[in-house]
Amino acid sequence: MTAISNKNVRVSKVEKSRISEVDFSNLVFGKNFSDHMFVCDYKDGKWQNPSIIPYGDMTISPAAKVFHYGQAVFEGMKAYKDDNGNAWLFRPDQNFKRINRSSERLAIPAFREDYFFEALDTLVSLDKEWIKPGDGNALYIRPFVIATEVGVSASPSTEYKFIIVMSPVQAYYKGDVKVVVAEHFSRAADGGVGFTKAAGNYAGQFYPTNLAKEKGFQQVIWTDANEHKYLEEAGTMNVFFRVGDTLLTAPTNDRILDGVTRKSVIQLAKDAGVNVEVRRVPVSEIVEAANNGTLKEIFGAGTAAVISPVSAFSFQEKVYEIPKQKDSYATRFKKALMDIQYNRAEDPYGWRYAVD
Ligand SMILES: *Cc1c(COP(=O)(O)O)cnc(C)c1O
Repeated sequence: MTAISNKNVRVSKVEKSRISEVDFSNLVFGKNFSDHMFVCDYKDGKWQNPSIIPYGDMTISPAAKVFHYGQAVFEGMKAYKDDNGNAWLFRPDQNFKRINRSSERLAIPAFREDYFFEALDTLVSLDKEWIKPGDGNALYIRPFVIATEVGVSASPSTEYKFIIVMSPVQAYYKGDVKVVVAEHFSRAADGGVGFTKAAGNYAGQFYPTNLAKEKGFQQVIWTDANEHKYLEEAGTMNVFFRVGDTLLTAPTNDRILDGVTRKSVIQLAKDAGVNVEVRRVPVSEIVEAANNGTLKEIFGAGTAAVISPVSAFSFQEKVYEIPKQKDSYATRFKKALMDIQYNRAEDPYGWRYAVD
């Protein structure tokens, strides 16, 4: 892919970078932000004033609709640096399409493609020093849209802000993850907003996840809201199961987020000759596979952690341990994906996007 550059975006640079204040060897995920951010307003029926400005606090009315009705969507992506100092994005076209799919469902106007890519290109190259080379180091990019019209009537806002902030991150490793299969709570329902990155989807997960944490687990594997019979997502990641040497994952639908990592892993696995089945995955099938020893792996897939192996799951008060695999798909496809992201391998799919 090549960069689009129409020079619509006004840039006002910081006088002095804050980069020397940041300890890059001790980063907490999403706590530090780079020097610049992108802001664009929607007003009078159009997106206007696309600007890059110094990162900092903003003034917003307490009556802005986002605070009352949660009209907000976001994206999560990363910029990577290779050993020659070049910066890369990974399939940013997917994030662009997805934020507009999310926006449409929340009655937010679609953002402009030319502004999106110009903002990314300019921001990432301005703050390129904030991306450190080396495995796991990246600049986490958070585009989001919020409803800013003042007024507490429950109707779609007529004004919005599209913002991009960026946060330097290191490898996201929290050890092996133990999960609880949801038997009561649900993340998403048929006809709902589960397929979007709507802000409220995450708030709704905190309480059930806290209950899981109290029991010594880190995440919830969400099941279908109707019957709690089918496995759908792991926390805020898509989820894969390896039974024998077959990789299983749920098809995307209106309850499941269409993850870029998920679809990339499916492609890499298929092309590596792995049998991949994209179909509903019953809890009973995975419990049976755990009991008869054919369940070899469970892992989550998402931009932040890339791939997170699951070491145990609980269902109906029983805990099923998943033995460590020598030749794990999780390790193999995480490496294959990162080799493409960090420009260490061929990119036969055209997934890498150069930032200059
Ligand atoms: C963001 C997200 C994912 C992962 O998507 P990626 O594009 O791979 O980062 C999966 N599930 C949910 C609910 C998400 O919000």
